[in-house]
Amino acid sequence: MAVFINDTCINCGACIDECPVEAIVDEDDNPTGEETYYVYADKCVECVGHHDEPACATACPTEGCITWDAIGESPEHREDITEEQRANKEPVVE
Ligand code: SF4
Ligand code: SF4
Repeated sequence: MAVFINDTCINCGACIDECPVEAIVDEDDNPTGEETYYVYADKCVECVGHHDEPACATACPTEGCITWDAIGESPEHREDITEEQRANKEPVVE
């Protein structure tokens, strides 16, 4: 995984056009069936090489909605995020 959108997402759409690698889909295309936006972990690069922090989380108006998640298939990830932050799904933007 990479960053994760949790169930506090209000489907506002602010994040989707901010993603430089088109890793985000809306609720209609969420493969889990949840009525929220969704990040494809194998596409998300945590904005490494694009922005100073994940652009989706910067744009998101819902506090704590976008969190860190475990490193998985993502091609890039932020080295300064700890395993604990990922395991606890801490918000990307406090
Ligand atoms: S962290 Fe960056 S690359 Fe990952 S979903 Fe958000 S905007 Fe896209
Ligand atoms: S910006 Fe936040 S609340 Fe809006 S659709 Fe994206 S994840 Fe959901």
